[in-house]
Formats: sequence, structure tokens, C-alpha cells
Amino acid sequence: MRKNNLIKFKSGQTIFNKDDSGEHAYLINSGVVEVRNGDIAIAILGEGEIIGEMAIIDGSTRSATAIALDNCELIEISKAQLNERIDDADPVVKFLISMLMTRLRESLSSDEVSDHTKPNFITTGKVVSLDNFKSNKDVVEKIKLETELRDAIVENELRVHYQPILDFRTGNISGFEALMRWQSPDRGFVRPDVFIGVAEETSLIIPMGHWIIKQSIKDFARLKTALINEGKYKKPMFMSINVAAKQFADKDLFKVLNFCVEKYRVDPREIKLEITERVLLAGDFVFKWIDMARAKGYSVALDDFGTGYSSLNYLANLSVNNLKIDKSFVDKIIENEKSRSIVKSIIDMSKNLNISVIAEGVEEQKEWDLLRSFGCDYMQGYLYSKPLAYNDLIALLSRSAGHKKKAA
Ligand code: C2E
Ligand code: CA
Ligand code: CA
Repeated sequence: MRKNNLIKFKSGQTIFNKDDSGEHAYLINSGVVEVRNGDIAIAILGEGEIIGEMAIIDGSTRSATAIALDNCELIEISKAQLNERIDDADPVVKFLISMLMTRLRESLSSDEVSDHTKPNFITTGKVVSLDNFKSNKDVVEKIKLETELRDAIVENELRVHYQPILDFRTGNISGFEALMRWQSPDRGFVRPDVFIGVAEETSLIIPMGHWIIKQSIKDFARLKTALINEGKYKKPMFMSINVAAKQFADKDLFKVLNFCVEKYRVDPREIKLEITERVLLAGDFVFKWIDMARAKGYSVALDDFGTGYSSLNYLANLSVNNLKIDKSFVDKIIENEKSRSIVKSIIDMSKNLNISVIAEGVEEQKEWDLLRSFGCDYMQGYLYSKPLAYNDLIALLSRSAGHKKKAA
């Protein structure tokens, strides 16, 4: 007898049998259910408890029989309903489920099922491999990385490198981007593509973000002082700091920024906060965040521009100072005519909107020449310089004549 997914069983009736294929799990709405393996009762379950979930999670048959001990009402949970949730779960949670399932099955198959210490699960007793959970190795690696990264913050293993950004018109270094590195005792010198993802998934990006703000603003101030003392300082100069999506929720972000610009006497306009174009899709709060950053005096750049699938219309309403054209476009401007027109249009459009454009990942002289002829404002790329440690950056900036040649 059923009403929607509510099923009624009379006292003594069998709910499912051992060796049945398991298509549903059941939530006990009312009544009491006994789970039996042969003559042995494995568990007595009541209201609010679930029966039959293991077989539907790992797709094996029932290894026990479930019998209604009195009149019962059960709510049916389909395979799809449960698996959809498992599929959406965090990979670490998935991994834990799969591990627990394997352990349960091992423990239930290895000893006799007889006492009350056994978990209240119905099981086939087979040790199974779960098709849904193939990525266990990746997950273990992720957990390891996360643990090491927590230590890295405390143990002072984070570093910043700075990649120069050149002004096309003057050929001078006008700024640089602060890029995080990790000097790991076990892994060596680690680039952020290995750890930033994990830092963003967990909330480690928050303290890491605070760390790079403090370190880079301090470096920026001492760099300016050194250049001024050498008579080499050329205004304007800016420094970009990356802000990940998770950091929008960080209530302390601007407190830390404000504290640092005051402490090191840096003008907030010299600090560019880089946010990816993709985060604009997250919602209106991002637009508000940008306005707030601007109101506090900071500059904002839209990073990885062209990869975010967002419409160009919003640009008119967006108070950003810069667009950074993604490397994937720059890579194709020589060979691919369409990419070239897109880049040219982005530059033309930005000019009309008073947004200056930084081309990222410039590796070839031909790309440089073309971008310059399009009126692109700034470039950043290996052609001029890779990200550098502070000492190498200051050495480069001190060799003032050195950075003019590419613009000729
Ligand atoms: P991004 O913000 O797009 O930074 C530019 C990346 O492109 C940097 O990689 C830089 O080294 C690389 N790059 C620049 N020019 C060239 C080039 O000519 N050729 C090639 N092949 N690569 C070039 P990096 O330093 O490995 O950083 C990767 C990403 O990690 C960054 O991409 C950014 O999304 C993230 N990241 C780095 N530091 C931080 C940080 O402090 N906070 C946050 N939230 N993210 C960071
Ligand atoms: Ca960036
Ligand atoms: Ca970028």
C-alpha cells in the first residue's frame, strides 16, 4: 500500500529479503523493523532510522532480511535521490563514505554477525569497490597537501615573487604582481597552481591572503624607498595582489589592507586588487565589493579576462581600473585571426570606457609588437621577465636602462 513514497507494512510482513537487489533505502516514519541474517537479529530499528542504504550506495544485493515488527510506515528513498547527494558531496566526504563502507563490509563479512556491537546496517558482506569513488588517491593527496599547507603558514614557508608589468608607451616597469610561492621542506619550491586550489576549497586562502598582503605591501614600501634613495623611482608605480572568490567573505580583508597601507605609508591607489572575471557571475555582492574597494581608494583589475563567459555589457557599470587579457588569447593572436580581433576589440572598447588593459603571458616578440600596435597599455610576461624574488626585482629595477630596450 503506498501513498507517494510512503509505504505501509503490517506487523510480521517482510520489507525486503536477503539477496534481493537493492533499489531503495527506507526511512522509518513509524513502527519498528527487525533486520535479520538467517536466525540472527542484527538490529532493531525504529522511527527516524534508515534501512537498506548500503546496498543502494554501492549497488550490491541485500545480505539481510528486514521484517516489520509492528505496523510500519516507511518512506522510500530512491537510488537516484541518494546518489545525487553523494555525487554533489565534497570529495573528502565521498572518500570518507567509501572508506567507511569498505570497513563496514569487511567487519561484517569477517566475523559472525551476532552481537549488538555490530553497526545497524544491512549488508551483503562483500568487500566492494565503489565505482563512484575512484579518486581516492587524489583525495588522500589533497588531505596531505592541506595539512602541510596549514603548517606552511605557521612555519613561515610562504614566499612572494613579483612579476614586472611594463608600460608599453614608456617601456618602464610600472608595477608588478605579487605571486605566492611555497618553500616546502618536502616538496621543494611549489608554484601556486599546485596549492591555491586546495587553499580556496578549504578556508586556508584567508590567512594566506592576509600573509601575502602584509608581506607584499611591506616589500613594496621598502622597494620604493630603495629606488627613491637611488634616484631611480619613476611614478606611477603599482602592485597587484590576487583576491580569490572565497576572500570576498573575509570580513578582515580590508582591515588588514588598511592597516598595512597605513603602517607602510603606501597610497591605496598603488595597490591593485585582482579578481577574476569569473567571480562576477557569483552575484551582485561582487559588484558591491568592487565599489567598496574603490571607495576605500584601492584599484581593481579584472583578471583572466575573456575566460569568464560573462557578457561584455556589464563592463559599463563596473568600476574597475584594469582588464587583464588572459594568456590564452595572447597565445593565439599571431596565428588565429579571430583571437586577434577579439583582443583588438577588447582594447578598443576598454579605451572608450577608460579602463586600461594589461596583456598577460606575453612570450613572443611578435605578440609584443602586435599588442603595442593595438594600443594595449601594459604587458606582463616571460618575454620581459618571469616572477622574481624581491632581491632580483630590485636589482632589475636598479638597472634602469635595462628595461627600455624591448619597447624600441
Ligand atoms: P594569475 O593571477 O593569472 O597570475 C599570472 C600567472 O601567469 C602567474 O603564474 C605567472 O607566473 C604566469 N605567467 C606570467 N607570464 C607568463 C608567461 O609569459 N608565460 C607563462 N607560461 N606564464 C606566465 P603563477 O605565479 O604560477 O600563479 C598562478 C595562479 O595562482 C595565478 O594566476 C593566481 O590565480 C594564483 N595566485 C598566485 N598567487 C596568489 C595569491 O597570493 N592569492 C591568490 N588568491 N591567488 C594567487
Ligand atoms: Ca592575477
Ligand atoms: Ca591572470
